[in-house]
Amino acid sequence: MPGEPLGVIEEFIPDSGAYTKDGIIYSKIIGCALIDFKNKRVSVFPIGHVAKVPKVGSIIIGQVSAVQPQMATVRIFKIGKKALSGFFSGLLHVSDAQSRFVESMFNICKPSDIIRAEIISEKNRIYHLSTKGKNLGVVYAFCSNCGYLLEQRYRDLQCPRCGKIEKRKIAIDYGKGMI
Ligand SMILES: [Zn+2]
Repeated sequence: MPGEPLGVIEEFIPDSGAYTKDGIIYSKIIGCALIDFKNKRVSVFPIGHVAKVPKVGSIIIGQVSAVQPQMATVRIFKIGKKALSGFFSGLLHVSDAQSRFVESMFNICKPSDIIRAEIISEKNRIYHLSTKGKNLGVVYAFCSNCGYLLEQRYRDLQCPRCGKIEKRKIAIDYGKGMI
């Protein structure tokens, strides 16, 4: 929404559809905020059609809000390329996280990670997610030690700032796309 804060100039550079005032970046228009973590840019694109609710089979983008040993909670904010008019809650169970057996959700994702997932079922507006498949999984992850964006290093992720190595179930295009 116009005037809605999107971040601060220490974090991002404002791009099209955004402006800064007193160090804070705001939206200029009604649209969908896109954050390019790699280049630290935030922009707002006008919304054409806003999808109303996710459906079974939809590919969604969400942010992991909490992780327990068997389950992660995800805040769904996008279906495909379309931003949602609100937020929906998704649940990712460890058995739906990857094709191979994995013991703990902590090796799949961590809070604040951005993931791409498929909706496999819906009950009472709770969406059950799957990240099985090469194109699904974590697309951006942040260091649990210092919060910096992790970079892919072979099958693991590494923090370029503090050197910490972390495990995730990453999507094939980890760190490359815009969200
Ligand atoms: Zn770090």
